Amino acid sequence: MSGYEIPKSMKAWVLGDPDVLELVDKPVPKPGTGEVLVRIDAVAICATDLEIINEGSPALIEGELPFNKNFTPGHEYMGTIVELGPTVDEYAVGDRIAVEIHAGCGRCERCRMGMYTSCLNYGANYDEYSKGHRANGYTTDGAFTQYAVNHVNTLVRVPDFMTDEVATLIVTAGTAMYGLDVLGGLVAGQGLVVTGAGPIGLLGVAVGKALGADPVILTDIVQDRLEIGKKLGADHVINVKNTCPVKAVREANSNRGVNFVLECSGAQNAVNDAIRMVSRGGRVCLAAFSHGPASVDTKYIVANNIYLYGIRGEGKSAVRRAASLMKQKRFDASLVHTHTFPLSDLPTGLKYAREKIDGAIKVVIKNQE
Ligand SMILES: [Zn+2]
Ligand SMILES: [Zn+2]
Repeated sequence: MSGYEIPKSMKAWVLGDPDVLELVDKPVPKPGTGEVLVRIDAVAICATDLEIINEGSPALIEGELPFNKNFTPGHEYMGTIVELGPTVDEYAVGDRIAVEIHAGCGRCERCRMGMYTSCLNYGANYDEYSKGHRANGYTTDGAFTQYAVNHVNTLVRVPDFMTDEVATLIVTAGTAMYGLDVLGGLVAGQGLVVTGAGPIGLLGVAVGKALGADPVILTDIVQDRLEIGKKLGADHVINVKNTCPVKAVREANSNRGVNFVLECSGAQNAVNDAIRMVSRGGRVCLAAFSHGPASVDTKYIVANNIYLYGIRGEGKSAVRRAASLMKQKRFDASLVHTHTFPLSDLPTGLKYAREKIDGAIKVVIKNQE
């Protein structure tokens, strides 16, 4: 890595009007105190990127939707440290790292609790509201470009054997880990249902299995994705396209409810199904953005003492624990990665992800050959 020359400008995709991305030149950012400059080697496309590019939310730039603000989206990335800001001695130039998305502000009540993904100063990083909040790809520039600045708190090391593509999935596994943390963490010997076999759901199966959940049941309507779920450790996979999800799940678990549901589908009736998949006193964690308000059977929740949680992203250092499982080769995350495109071809990558062309699950944009 010695002699690596950092250019003054970089190619970056910026969001104009909704669904309009343009490749422009931007200055390479400078890392501040406690920060590093990351050369982005690979970035995975997330369903939330597609939402941000189309609807704006949950990105927030200068207190507003991110359109026409010279904003670069993209948040699930890994790369190589090429410059250290003042005081950084935790990492060295040349280290390969993956990132947590949310740095938070570090000073609000939630950040102090380790809940930096629900920072109370979300988006407060400009003008007189400058409280140092960062969530790259949401409230600060993201990774559909060549370089990004990251606080050391957001970095996790990538082992040598791991490919760039797989390393982009560390943060996705971290989100699944955070969901299981919120459900109580100690899932060994307890039944877990994961609804929805997208990237978070599939890695929810993998992480749940690695932590000893028993049985692990996965539901979806796409058979190919369920097959991948099997390879990642699901004891039962259920195609719920033409069947009652609750009945099928209970049948797979000796006609009993499970302890936990990790809801990753965002489907219209997902909450009503999930609360009936758990036994009385069970816990449900919502990890997917749904597409609109849902009508929920609150009486059933109260009558059966069911706990309902929502998570945003990957708080409480869950990414580090997920990275450790992947370093220990406890599951093969590469099964979730299906396509790769170069940075110049980002629009094609987004199209594959959006339309699920050719069975696309995780589409990765690669910067370095
Ligand atoms: Zn994401
Ligand atoms: Zn905060």
